[in-house]
Amino acid sequence: MIHIQNLDFRYPRAAFQLVINDLKIETGEKVAFVGPSGSGKTTLLNLISGITLARSGTIEVAGNHVGSLSDKQRRDFRVAKIGFVFQRFELIEYLNVSDNILFPFLINPSVDCTPEVRHRMMGLADTVGIASLLKRYPRQLSQGEQQRVAICRALILSPPLILADEPTGNLDPANKEIILDLMLSEFEARTRTFVVVTHDQSVAQKCDRMIDFSSFHHQLKTGEAVS
Ligand code: ADP
Ligand code: MG
Repeated sequence: MIHIQNLDFRYPRAAFQLVINDLKIETGEKVAFVGPSGSGKTTLLNLISGITLARSGTIEVAGNHVGSLSDKQRRDFRVAKIGFVFQRFELIEYLNVSDNILFPFLINPSVDCTPEVRHRMMGLADTVGIASLLKRYPRQLSQGEQQRVAICRALILSPPLILADEPTGNLDPANKEIILDLMLSEFEARTRTFVVVTHDQSVAQKCDRMIDFSSFHHQLKTGEAVS
């Protein structure tokens, strides 16, 4: 599903460098990205989804070379293939909860928002305990409630790849269990791939494999950081 080769990524004018020679994540794998804060976990999710582009190396996702797609192709690829739970949720402030969850349908002309889709939306919202909040706006929600909206949005299209950036970081233990079970139950068919950034051992242990970022990132010395 994901194959990264010879990746060498730096932000302009920053001392951070991410180097990954060869990393493969198979279709159906559940993988936890672990490592210290600032080690590049969010950066790699952005590179995998084409939100950020690398200067050197190749990133292949579901048969697409992310770096060689046009902007439009990359957007279409992202909508069709990836459910992304952002670390900072990135909900749309002017849409209510149900429209935020349905957002992938609103921006994707190739899929219809049918009554079945609305039914699935309500089912997801119910499972994660936000069914009574569908008419509210993001600013009227707690962090944990916003996080659950973001998770429903990532799952609504049943994408083949889920990238979840610390998806349980703002949840109490009971909600954490519910959400983990929901996300993992979506994967029972073994055809979906799940990448989760987490500091939580109980989340990491539910995955097939942990990938530790300690060896991927480097702190460049002053002068080495190029613009
Ligand atoms: P993690 O998710 O593992 O905590 P990040 O991928 O968010 O780490 O960040 C890795 C490093 O890159 C950090 O040192 C961070 O400060 C830096 N960084 C992140 N985004 C940018 C950016 N847009 N410009 C410059 N530096 C950035
Ligand atoms: Mg991060």
